[in-house]
Amino acid sequence: MSGQEEERKTAGKTTGKAAERIRERILSAVYPRRCPICDGILSDGEPFICRECAGKIRFIRGPVCMKCGAPLTEQQEYGAGFQEEPDAGQSSRKVAPPEETAEFCPKCRTAQHIFVQGFAPFLYRGEIRQSLMRLKYGNRAEYARFFGKALAVYGQPWLEQWNVQLLVPVPVHPSRERKRGCNQAAEIARALGKEIHVPMEEDGVCRVKNTKPQKELTGRMRRRNLQGAFQIRAGTRIPARVLIVDDIFTTGATVDELARTLYGYGAREVYAACASMD
Ligand SMILES: [Zn+2]
Ligand SMILES: [Zn+2]
Repeated sequence: MSGQEEERKTAGKTTGKAAERIRERILSAVYPRRCPICDGILSDGEPFICRECAGKIRFIRGPVCMKCGAPLTEQQEYGAGFQEEPDAGQSSRKVAPPEETAEFCPKCRTAQHIFVQGFAPFLYRGEIRQSLMRLKYGNRAEYARFFGKALAVYGQPWLEQWNVQLLVPVPVHPSRERKRGCNQAAEIARALGKEIHVPMEEDGVCRVKNTKPQKELTGRMRRRNLQGAFQIRAGTRIPARVLIVDDIFTTGATVDELARTLYGYGAREVYAACASMD
């Protein structure tokens, strides 16, 4: 990139960020932002999570599965969470990077995943689970900002390597979105996209089959339930490197089926970033 180009890009970004900050100030005066963990109101110095909860939450740490990012050992240590000063820049991010391994978790040793690699910053337990439930069912789409940030910070080592060009949130069937009011995966993908400056495809990829909840099914039934669930609208351009975004990674069957669809439309490498891992 030439110096001039870089300057232009930086200048554009600054203006965008400033405008965003103003917009958020105005919005937060009307709708106070809430902590995704305790649901308490956030102060100006707490952009994503309250101070108390920042010290409480724990990221997945230690050696993780090279395929899906699941922890390979028991999670014992508490991660010194999410201490970020609002304007202190990148250096203040304190998340211990996960250890790279050449090992698969027990699930990935038997499953043939077709996505290349994936990660999740949190386990789907306790407070994180409750937070994601409120995001999904409790009219708390604003929590997505926190999860987008957590994915960007925790996932940095992966994201730098993958160099993805498009984010694709796992779509929900229109009837379910109507009932619930928002697609939690899309909210998280939008927030992550803002952090890492990657566009998101929201309307081009859709769910055409109103599948049974995966929770009620196991193994092969999950895969059959999902077959043909996703479709890509004509005219949607799918680049070579795509990142699927979802709220929970369970067996990976959903990510695999969406990846299969994306490979059929020109994607060469499909990755996955999920807010949590069950
Ligand atoms: Zn809190
Ligand atoms: Zn795995």
